Parts: sequence; structure tokens; C-alpha cells
Amino acid sequence: MAADVDRIRTLAREFLIALGEDPDREGLVKTPDRVAKAMAFLTSGYRTSLGDVVNNAIFTQTTNSMVIVKDIELYSLCEHHLLPFFGRCHIGYIPTGKVFGVSKLARLVDMYARRLQLQERLTEQVSEAIMNTIGATGVGVMIEARHLCMMMRGVEKQNSVMVTSSVVGTFRESQATREEFLALVGHRAT
Ligand SMILES: [Zn+2]
Repeated sequence: MAADVDRIRTLAREFLIALGEDPDREGLVKTPDRVAKAMAFLTSGYRTSLGDVVNNAIFTQTTNSMVIVKDIELYSLCEHHLLPFFGRCHIGYIPTGKVFGVSKLARLVDMYARRLQLQERLTEQVSEAIMNTIGATGVGVMIEARHLCMMMRGVEKQNSVMVTSSVVGTFRESQATREEFLALVGHRAT
């Protein structure tokens, strides 16, 4: 479903009026257009497929030791408030002959992050996509993120980091594998 940029522009103007603003004052004249373009970009993950992202970027590799990619930058929008949450994503997987190009893992994270999200669901979608796309024997994904809906509104929550993890396959079945993953990504929560 394509983003209806014209409609978002119209609604953004209405939104400014509802907030008590004057959408015709100099600083706001172009705001509805900017909002529409920004929102279309920030939700562009709805219009990107896994196939587009991983296209030709899966390589044969005979190793079956754990692959770790740490500190993938992540920016998303919480679906409850349409406010950003942002942080880092750490990914580990055990391949069975196929591995991803590293930049593709970042694009895969972007694809799911550029939607209205819950951090928990985002974490699961990334782990399942990796598991299914390259037939890994196991995948672990951890996301550490700060939510502006908490930081800007709450008290005593300004420094809180939400940590979510999703483990599938051998990462779920084997405690030793899970612990190796957590140690390698330098889990510092709790
Ligand atoms: Zn929120």
C-alpha cells in the first residue's frame, strides 16, 4: 500500500490547526509537505520486501561458527504515539552454508524499523527473517532502545533503555549458545 502523500499533507495542515497553530505563518507554510515526505520515508519499510533487501547478497560460507554483527543503528516509530524510538540492534546467527553481506543486515533492520512498531515485534521480525532467509540453525537478536514517548512525557524515565531479545532455533534450545551470544554482544542490561 503506497503512502498517500497528498492526503498526509492535507491532514498535517488540519493537525496544525487542531493544535491551535496557524499553518499559514511563515515557519509552518512548508511544514505539512515536509511532514508528509518524512512520514512516507519513515514508513517506507511497508513498501519494501525482504526479497528487495537480500537480493544477491547471500554468500556461501562453509563455517558454522557464530556470526555476530553488533551496534546496528536503529530508528523506528512507536505505534502507540508515533514518536521515535532509537538505539542499537545486535544480531548473532549460526549459518548452515549461507551468510548475509553485513550491510544487508543493516538494511533488513531498517526495513522493519521503518514501520509503525513495537520494539518486541521488531525484534522478533528481524530474527525470523534471518532464520527463514538463509536457513540459519539459530538466530539471536537483541535491541536496546530509548523511547521518546517515555523520555519526553514521563518523569524518572528519561534514562531508561528498553532491552528486548528474540532467540530462535539453536539459540532457543541451547543455553550455552544463548550465553555465547549474550557474552559476544556485551549485554549490559540489568
Ligand atoms: Zn510510545
